[in-house]
Amino acid sequence: MAVPDDTQTQADGPTSGFRSLTQAELMAEATARFGQDYLAWAFTCPACGDTATFQDFKDAGATADRVGQECIGRTLGALTKPEPTHTRGCDWAAYGLFRGPWKVTLPAADGKPEREMWCFPLADPPDPARDVPRDGSPSR
Ligand SMILES: [Zn+2]
Repeated sequence: MAVPDDTQTQADGPTSGFRSLTQAELMAEATARFGQDYLAWAFTCPACGDTATFQDFKDAGATADRVGQECIGRTLGALTKPEPTHTRGCDWAAYGLFRGPWKVTLPAADGKPEREMWCFPLADPPDPARDVPRDGSPSR
């Protein structure tokens, strides 16, 4: 079969949001975006767009293993019957019917083999121009 060499239209960036990476790569990327303090690490819910940090989940009383796995709405009452009580987020989970969109490979540990888990994408890094007050000196 012939493969045209200059008609490829594939973009470099993610087209479906899917990514496959190792736990080490995920942690390196999170550190690069948010710094060493993991409480500032944030994931964005692919369903509702809510961005929640480890700190947000901690404040809501959730265990850390929910971060990046579930929308914070689940912790805040999105599943409460008969009326949901959450004030933000939704009931989405990375391990639900529509998984991911990120697939993370965890290393073998404690006698268990390497395994994969799904998670939400990391949030965009905080905007330094907005979040870090400068000391008034004009740049450049
Ligand atoms: Zn959500």
